[in-house]
Amino acid sequence: MEFQAKKLFAKHDVPVTEGIVAQTPEEARAAAEKLGVVVVKAQVKAGGRGKAGGVKLAKTPDEAFEHASNILGMTIKDLTVHRVLIAPAASIEEEYYFSFLLDRANRSYLCIASVEGGVEIEEVAKTNPDAVKQIAIDPGTGVDEAKAREIVAEAGFPEVLTDQAVQTVLGLWKTFVEEDATLVEVNPLARLAGDKLEALDGKVSLDENAEFRHEDHAEFEDKEAADPLEAKAKAMGLNYVKLDGEVGIIGNGAGLVMSTLDVVAYAGEKHGGVKPANFLDIGGGASATVMANGLDVILNDPQVKSVFVNVFGGITSCDAVADGIVGALDILGDEATKPLVVRLDGNNVEEGRRILGEKNHPLVTLVETMDGAADKAAELANA
Ligand code: GDP
Ligand code: MN
Repeated sequence: MEFQAKKLFAKHDVPVTEGIVAQTPEEARAAAEKLGVVVVKAQVKAGGRGKAGGVKLAKTPDEAFEHASNILGMTIKDLTVHRVLIAPAASIEEEYYFSFLLDRANRSYLCIASVEGGVEIEEVAKTNPDAVKQIAIDPGTGVDEAKAREIVAEAGFPEVLTDQAVQTVLGLWKTFVEEDATLVEVNPLARLAGDKLEALDGKVSLDENAEFRHEDHAEFEDKEAADPLEAKAKAMGLNYVKLDGEVGIIGNGAGLVMSTLDVVAYAGEKHGGVKPANFLDIGGGASATVMANGLDVILNDPQVKSVFVNVFGGITSCDAVADGIVGALDILGDEATKPLVVRLDGNNVEEGRRILGEKNHPLVTLVETMDGAADKAAELANA
């Protein structure tokens, strides 16, 4: 969110005015009493707040109260506004766009900059793409002062702002690298009265894989917006993403699970258009507990009609996985109510199938091939 991004910017010497966060209209009024003329800004993890009516100028504390009453509780791109930022109103002369991001296609970083920033930047990118500069960043060397000067020149910042722009670019690069971000975006980076450059908005995406070295990032998590099943899975240490279909998926290994989503979506075309309900990779050591936790999350998804367990026995062999499934069904007892289609292959597959066959659980269907199992799971979800 903007107020969080601004906090990170301030830490890395990017010029910002942090303002005061308010969760009630009364708090908004109190903040405006301290700050004078303010802008009341919806805090949600989405852009386009201005266009949605989530950014309003308030000349008096009463106006701030009024705007906060309207903006709090508002929905912007499916997100409910729970807090507003009360920021001192700035006198804007020009609006620029600036970002650093991960350029996956080129295995590199990219800087995007435009002196025609502001709320119409997407439109500018379409109608006047030359006004939006893209500058590749070599990940090996990054952005030093010389590179920052090159970026500033290429973007076309006015002369009088050059030095401030260079310092700002360096600060944003430091934010990008030291916070392990995948995106750092400022729109508008504004030229204020008196030729002062300031980040009036901010958006930062942090790389979750680097969470372990940023304890302070925990505070940025948006608990209110998190999907409850995803939150539950995260608490159990599961690698789970909620999707919009009916066939629950459990597999071991991200690649296998991704392929499973594809074959289920394909099989679903023949069975009423059912789709995968989630991504869940239980990883290598699929113990009974991990399997039970995974099944527990998936069976609690009201959209799920059937579950496809697709496991390739490698380091954890199929008999251990089969024991895991049997153990999970014992742990879950009456809570397991939806049909399970299991496909096992790989290390010790005969023994794995024997264990499941012997158990002969009424909910479990063993299918030998991945395509066959996908078809069966889709059929059951559509039944
Ligand atoms: P977004 O629409 O979600 O990107 O929200 P922004 O924070 O970028 O605000 C949208 C627009 O509101 C900006 O492009 C500015 O034109 C305007 N705005 C934001 N803060 C101020 C401010 O302090 N003073 C003035 N005059 N305009 C502001
Ligand atoms: Mn903006």
